[in-house]
Amino acid sequence: MNDEVNLHPHDAGQPFESKEIRSDLGIYLHVPFCVKRCHFCAFYLVMHEERRIEQFLQALDREIAFYARQLEMSRRTVSTVYVGGGTPTALLPGQLKNIFSLMTSRFSLSARCEMTVEATPESLTAEYADTLLQAGVTRLSVGMQSFNQQERARLGLSGTVAEALSGVQVAKEAGFSNVNLDLIYGIPGQSIQSWERTLSQALELNPSHVSCYALSLEEGTRFYTEFRRGALRLMDPDDESGFQYRAEAQLETAGFTRYEISNWAKPGFSCQHNLRYWRGLEYLGMGPSAQSYVSGSRFGNVSSVDQYAKQLEAGKLPIAEKERLLRYQQEKERIVFGLRLLEGVPIDWVQGLSQDEVWSTSFKKLVEEDYLLQADSRLQLTRKGRQFADTVSMRLL
Ligand code: SF4
Repeated sequence: MNDEVNLHPHDAGQPFESKEIRSDLGIYLHVPFCVKRCHFCAFYLVMHEERRIEQFLQALDREIAFYARQLEMSRRTVSTVYVGGGTPTALLPGQLKNIFSLMTSRFSLSARCEMTVEATPESLTAEYADTLLQAGVTRLSVGMQSFNQQERARLGLSGTVAEALSGVQVAKEAGFSNVNLDLIYGIPGQSIQSWERTLSQALELNPSHVSCYALSLEEGTRFYTEFRRGALRLMDPDDESGFQYRAEAQLETAGFTRYEISNWAKPGFSCQHNLRYWRGLEYLGMGPSAQSYVSGSRFGNVSSVDQYAKQLEAGKLPIAEKERLLRYQQEKERIVFGLRLLEGVPIDWVQGLSQDEVWSTSFKKLVEEDYLLQADSRLQLTRKGRQFADTVSMRLL
């Protein structure tokens, strides 16, 4: 790893307004490597290759060093770290441990900092889980997706059901008590009974958190190509609510609370990092394609390991695009993201936008059409609103 910091704020741009002293921050770190690409996945990633990994790790060291200096100047503490991808556990255990050593030695982490690592279940071994625990990782987010072998094959996932089950069990036995399982519904050919079995098998693993996502069609994926050729039929939107209701019923009976449209947690286990996104709080992204929201600006890194490494080597931050949000845009976004949470948003946030006539009209219509409701001093999505949350967002933005 490279200890030298050769980035100059002038060359690199100044994401942080230097004199401001602001509240805490979340850090997202993108590890863009996978052993193969799943058929539904559109994230920026490259296939696992040792030379590229070394190039990435050296560049990440430089990026971390630069931001560590900036955060020290603005006296920020970090309260959540989320290492996602890609598959972070495609790195060797020691490589991932080094990344955490850099984070803990260079940033001021809060005492109860939540540190999450995303993993594919089959990549979890006792040795890997142990290394992550030693590195200070407090939470695992496992891309399980399905417990049905045919569905796993249809999604293009690596690993068998048995390997996936064993990976999660091994991690729990090693000492991970905060484990999320990501599940997908609406897989081609999936029946509601199969979805119920996947939910039951997930619950048997006793996770603390479960995320249930409807399969979505993303450009650039194998599913997208199949769909264009007419070789893939997606779930009928009318059937989606049936899958959602099954998830709600089974997870709530097992003691989980739905706190966001796609997320359920046992008491005290909501994902603090993701809550930052929905509550409009700030986060800093590092690694190729990582996105940030800091000091009223959104900015994103280049989606290329080569470009990322070259720019950092040349003393520049690898930012590809940056947008400064006007005050009213920040307020609108804060409402739209906040509505994804079951707790909703304070009603005074909405009243603050009442001078914007177009926005006020859309908002009133959504209330009349039973997508939104006011409960005490908060605004929330109704059951219908949760089902059509993306439509509500589009009408409000
Ligand atoms: S393992 Fe995760 S990040 Fe990698 S291709 Fe599959 S879904 Fe995408």
